[in-house]
Amino acid sequence: MHDEVKSAALNPYHMAVQQFELAADKLNLSEDMREILRQPKRELTVNFPVRLDNGRIKTFTGYRVQHNVNRGPAKGGIRYGPDVTLDEVKALAMWMAWKTAVVGIPFGGAKGGVICDPKKMSPAELERLTRRYATEISIIIGPRSDIPAPDVNTNSQVMAWIMDTYSMHEGFSSPAVVTGKPLSIGGSEGRNDATATGVLFVTRQAAKRIGMPLQGARVSIQGFGNAGSIAARLFHNEGCKIVALSDTRGGIYNESGLEPSSVLRHKQEQGSVVGYHRAQAIGVHDALEVPCDILIPAATEGVITATNADRVLARIIAEAANGPTTPEADEILFKKNVVVIPDILANAGGVTVSYFEWVQDIQSFFWNVEEITQKLEVIMNRSFAAVAEKADQYSCNMRLAANMLAISRVAEATQVRGIYP
Ligand code: NAD
Repeated sequence: MHDEVKSAALNPYHMAVQQFELAADKLNLSEDMREILRQPKRELTVNFPVRLDNGRIKTFTGYRVQHNVNRGPAKGGIRYGPDVTLDEVKALAMWMAWKTAVVGIPFGGAKGGVICDPKKMSPAELERLTRRYATEISIIIGPRSDIPAPDVNTNSQVMAWIMDTYSMHEGFSSPAVVTGKPLSIGGSEGRNDATATGVLFVTRQAAKRIGMPLQGARVSIQGFGNAGSIAARLFHNEGCKIVALSDTRGGIYNESGLEPSSVLRHKQEQGSVVGYHRAQAIGVHDALEVPCDILIPAATEGVITATNADRVLARIIAEAANGPTTPEADEILFKKNVVVIPDILANAGGVTVSYFEWVQDIQSFFWNVEEITQKLEVIMNRSFAAVAEKADQYSCNMRLAANMLAISRVAEATQVRGIYP
């Protein structure tokens, strides 16, 4: 384990702005336009009391940030965690604005978060916290204004509580206010697997580009939650060998390949991948550095840095997580010829199927999983091709290319709408 990686002091918002400036320079964006696009449109901070099971009343802090909304309503997940900060939420909202633009779906960017430790809270406490937070942010969320979704430590149950709370205030059911809901209340087929499915679609394209067969390719995944565990299953089904998996407690490695469904059962019983018997134990950050062909960071921001980028052995990095690679690490990886499929493209399958869910809720007519997957593949492949073309045109990495494509689309929408009044 490399402690220096863990302790690297990274501010995700500074990182997001740095990435933005690189693309803005290349696009020759005017300073006036940069000022508009570089900061969020709205930042809402809410402090709200929640009754705990022991009778105490604890005040929590939450955020909802909307980045640019010139291309459509704001869209983005809500995360719960002890380390959530406003700067993290601002960065994630900005990345959402670029993500929806890079895949060409009509949304702006948003993100929300609550500082809490969900692992130490009962389901009843989490429900009360969620309903109160939903009420606090209901002044800016809504099916036509800002549509939340699950993110780290939130899930379809949390979305159901938000949908119910919002609907109670409206006086009628309003399924389109959130995505990632259970199927029984207007969720979409394919939403659960969407992020990982999108990661697989773009990785197929990247592998084709460098002439690497996916059959037998060695895959290492950091993070074994929603995105990571499903990616493990899908890449395993694709014929890849899953050589390493990790979570916050540590990692496991087997050069002959791990069986994702069996590791998932172990995790469900033990709460971690750690202790899985048919593997060697590795440190919490080692999944990033094991010998592999494809690395999928699927945990959190700022994990691939100037300190460890040189030790990454993969040929392709498919960023299921948001913001896993720092700008300094990007440069090192580009020089090493590592293909980094940037987060705003690689993990856009989630928001794309969220868009399908919102469309289905609004039209009250639902598609089957085959239709969803087919539509998702068209969008992911088209977006990959557009980003790859731009990267070739400018001889740059795919992050810069994706940001240029996305930012130019948002800038164009901002320009054509004009400045009010
Ligand atoms: P999750 O909470 O379900 O899973 C996160 C996993 O990462 C857990 O297994 C956790 O133990 C592990 N983890 C956290 N910090 C770690 C660390 N430092 N080292 C190793 N493991 C660590 O969350 P998720 O929904 O799977 O999201 C993971 C990432 O993917 C986030 O960056 C999120 O923003 C991004 N993402 C998720 C979706 C989605 O649909 N779930 C969509 C787009 C992007």
